[in-house]
Amino acid sequence: MNEGWEIMMELKNFMEDVVLGKLDKVLDQYPDCCRCDQCRRDIAILALNHLPAHYSSTEKGEIFTRVQAMSLEYEVEVIQQIAKAIELVSAHPRHEKRA
Ligand SMILES: [Zn+2]
Repeated sequence: MNEGWEIMMELKNFMEDVVLGKLDKVLDQYPDCCRCDQCRRDIAILALNHLPAHYSSTEKGEIFTRVQAMSLEYEVEVIQQIAKAIELVSAHPRHEKRA
């Protein structure tokens, strides 16, 4: 393992936790959207690609407070991006539609 990789392992994108924390809440408003792991992952990735990444080194105990603060700061933007991603993924799911 080289040094660069070790540094990467210490970095965490807090936006991931913010998006994942709000995903189910937004999905509740789209009862027709598939909620399988694949679609949920696609939705999260699409939303994250349109949101600024917030990398920081992870220090235990600090993560929760940082995510809480960012959730408030980016609430509207995060919900908008998740909603857009849900619409895209429900229109073009990567698997066969299930009954
Ligand atoms: Zn699905």
